[in-house]
Amino acid sequence: MYFSQLAAYFEQIEGTRSRVEITKILAELFNKLSAEEIGQTVYLLQGRVAPLFEKTEFGMAEKTVIKSIVSSLNIDRPYFEKENHRLGDVGKTVEEFKKQYVSFEEREMSINEVFLDLERLAKASGDGSNEMKVGILSGLVRQLDSKSCRYLVRIPQGMMRLGFSDMTIIDAYSWMLVGSKQYRPEIEGAYHVRPDLGYIGRLIKEKGIEGIKKVTPEIFTPIIMMRAERLSSGEEIVKQIGTCAVEPKYDGFRLQIHYKKKTGEVRLYSRNLEDVSFMYPDVVMGVQQEINAEDIIFEGEALGYNPQTHTFLPFQETVQRKRKYDIEEKAKEIPLKLFVFELLYCNGVSHINDSFTKRREILEKVISKKNIPEKNTTILAPHELLSDASIIEKNFDDAVAGGLEGIIAKKLDGTYKPGARGWNWIKFKRSYSSKIHDTVDCLVMGYDVGKGKRTGFGIGAFLVGVYDEKEETFKTVSKIGTGLTDDEWREMKTRCDKLQTKKKPLEYTIDKTMEVDMWVIPGIVVEIKADEITQSPSHTALYALRFPRLVRFRDDKSKTDVTTFSEISGLYTTQEA
Ligand code: ATP
Repeated sequence: MYFSQLAAYFEQIEGTRSRVEITKILAELFNKLSAEEIGQTVYLLQGRVAPLFEKTEFGMAEKTVIKSIVSSLNIDRPYFEKENHRLGDVGKTVEEFKKQYVSFEEREMSINEVFLDLERLAKASGDGSNEMKVGILSGLVRQLDSKSCRYLVRIPQGMMRLGFSDMTIIDAYSWMLVGSKQYRPEIEGAYHVRPDLGYIGRLIKEKGIEGIKKVTPEIFTPIIMMRAERLSSGEEIVKQIGTCAVEPKYDGFRLQIHYKKKTGEVRLYSRNLEDVSFMYPDVVMGVQQEINAEDIIFEGEALGYNPQTHTFLPFQETVQRKRKYDIEEKAKEIPLKLFVFELLYCNGVSHINDSFTKRREILEKVISKKNIPEKNTTILAPHELLSDASIIEKNFDDAVAGGLEGIIAKKLDGTYKPGARGWNWIKFKRSYSSKIHDTVDCLVMGYDVGKGKRTGFGIGAFLVGVYDEKEETFKTVSKIGTGLTDDEWREMKTRCDKLQTKKKPLEYTIDKTMEVDMWVIPGIVVEIKADEITQSPSHTALYALRFPRLVRFRDDKSKTDVTTFSEISGLYTTQEA
């Protein structure tokens, strides 16, 4: 297919507000594409040339994109900038200029040709790479027609923002096959194991739904992580899962580790599947030296460690390791210790469908039980098999007294369910001063400009919401105007500035009374502590958080990892009277 035909589809999608309609348009488009094209197109739809978990980024600021355009069209830069200011979008501006400009180089280019150029652009690095990027983009602007250019230049700027989620693409794959959402569970299941929509698209084209049912984990493709349900007593836990393995609940950050012994390559993925390997060289080295397997995927919680006092650090200190600069120095000051608790894949075999007991048995073969924090980086999370509610309670009390967050109870015959929150893992956390037994993770949806004292910050309150999995929309639960330090307000404003947009995103469901001055596209996740959950007619989640306070920014979580609509009503019913 030609890129110009694809651009016509982009335009159709951009002009459509209904999710169902977008799904149908995508399905029609996907039907017309070859296996190779569908993979490339799906990345382009997301403004990328690789799956989301790969680090490949364009790294092109608006001014470099403009430089490419003006050099390509040989036009006056201030004139272009004036028009851009008037139209408010480089894509529309270049389209206008291209309409008036006759280029002998203009021709039809295939999706594949454009994709390969964009891929070269994204991968260019080192000396002279900026010139190379400008050269590639200029070349494409000269060759493509006006409408194609509108979308082309939005890609390296990260401005595609067509307003749909991965789930819409998954639905569109099902629609492509059978004209309905019938295959969504199968496709979504495969996506949780291999969250690479390009790969999934190619596989469907080549092997149909049967191929999708057989998807297995692949080293260096992160698996969407399993999550825990919550309960608040030993008795409830025993009632739910009987005899269970009880492990301490560490408060650090979760890592999924992929390792190939032959090449020595280690990749560390965070909760939201970001490749964070470069941040934690000490963990990488620990894995290379201490893990006894040919190839493996496993998980653990990383905690900061004080080598002088031999004690573990609280989350606020551990989190200092999350940085882009001075990595080596910080690693010496705060080395990380990885408490390993899960095995997903080992020596060519997937273990996600095995029981916890079996997974643990293999884990104990690849990590020595003798590893200790004084000498090693990887330590097997200790666990006890318990069936007596009062002993579980005691175990929990000991954990809390020892400064831990609580415990996690694991069902002995439970499998590893990628991407699911289920009863195979149950967290029992320290109860806060509030009536609610857990914090709530929310998406920041927009904000009001500050009044009074906060005029200086430019932000006075921000609107947060939870995720309705059925409708795939975000629904509000609170507008937060207190409970942040001055620094946190400044940080919130900076983060919001990067993601602000004039139009309310399609996936937000909001009551008129909760409209805000500025919308923010999904991207900021915050953990909120509240005293109570109350019913509320003005919030679309139907509940509101009372006395909300910011606990921390959750950069390790993606938008769909926030607390769900059904969980909020669960927290409401289980809160203490
Ligand atoms: P979610 O519940 O969505 O996973 P969360 O971080 O808000 O996210 P927590 O209440 O912190 O949830 O409980 C689950 C998290 O606990 C895991 O994601 C993991 O990072 C951490 N954790 C700590 N110790 C363990 C353990 N022994 N086994 C499993 N997870 C553990």
